[in-house]
Amino acid sequence: MKKFNRCLKCGKNFKEGNLRYKVKILVSSDFDGVLNESEEEIDLHELMQEIENRESEELEDEVHKEINFLLCKPCRDVFVRDITDLEIKQITEDEDLKWQ
Ligand SMILES: [Zn+2]
Repeated sequence: MKKFNRCLKCGKNFKEGNLRYKVKILVSSDFDGVLNESEEEIDLHELMQEIENRESEELEDEVHKEINFLLCKPCRDVFVRDITDLEIKQITEDEDLKWQ
């Protein structure tokens, strides 16, 4: 497989020695222990059929998705600034939200 060696945002190709940043995003489902299907009885047969009809990869993505990419320095600065604007820094101070 060809190595992906350019900035995802601006497309700049990295040459040897260029400053580049690795970004890893993990999007994982967070189960609070409550099954919220009380309004309708769960039809097990229907549920099994739905699971069978879907690609296992698609189901896996819904539970756990990992995204990896590279950014150059200017794009990295914009990316980090945008995230800070979302006040994610404050959110991650919540112990319950920290990755195990
Ligand atoms: Zn870039």
